[in-house]
Amino acid sequence: MDNIKIILVETTHPGNIGAAARAMKTMGLSHLRLVQPKLFPCAEATARAAGADDILANTQIFESYEESLRDCHLILGTSARHRSIAWPILTPKASVEKAFACPGKVAFVFGRESSGLTNQELELCHYLVQIPTKTTFSSLNVASAVQILAYELRCADLAKSPATLHERGEIAKSVPASAEEMAQFYEHLEQTLIDIDFLDPKKPRRLMRRLHRLFNRVQLIDSEVSILRGILTAAQTQCEKRMDYE
Ligand code: SAH
Repeated sequence: MDNIKIILVETTHPGNIGAAARAMKTMGLSHLRLVQPKLFPCAEATARAAGADDILANTQIFESYEESLRDCHLILGTSARHRSIAWPILTPKASVEKAFACPGKVAFVFGRESSGLTNQELELCHYLVQIPTKTTFSSLNVASAVQILAYELRCADLAKSPATLHERGEIAKSVPASAEEMAQFYEHLEQTLIDIDFLDPKKPRRLMRRLHRLFNRVQLIDSEVSILRGILTAAQTQCEKRMDYE
């Protein structure tokens, strides 16, 4: 993600710059470039960044569009409209795949609030990216468009990097129970069901098969098998105590 640059061209409202910075930071992007912003730095941008101040502080400002792209190897221009020039158009997801396949720096370019990117600016782009909005009302706020692309980038990054998978929580970190662990669990379950008189070994019917189907559907992880086996052991202990008492 460090090779990805978000480039905003001639943004008029400083609030949109702040909102774009916030959108980027939530999704793990950090490089923002501005081409001739109307007003920047600006208190409104800082307010709308809502804490993404580091991104604003490190923003690079360029006098020309060409200069902002000079070190980029893949340029993806976003556009709400179908253009008269026939240019390869990608969905956000497909554009992110291209971005991840590129070993160099990648630019995602966003146009002016009023008029988007010019045809001349689009000509420097390898691909156009269109967010599939309604054709009758296709234009998103520029920071919303940044958010959608940033989200796609984030999803692709999570899918490829095992390190970030761990951010998803306990389940992702854990290993699914092995076949051996599951076999021991089913044996323990069956014995417990017999002990508590739920299962009659002479008339087992299809109970165990159904329970297999149930647990296969949830795909237990090893720590969950331990909890369930703990519960089974506790049930067996209670059962033994009662038998001693009787
Ligand atoms: N009226 C302008 C819309 C500009 S919206 C036009 O017709 O082009 C400002 C910027 O937000 C666009 O230049 C583009 O970068 C982005 N954007 C808005 N809607 C989008 C969409 N549906 N798909 C891709 N980018 C979009």
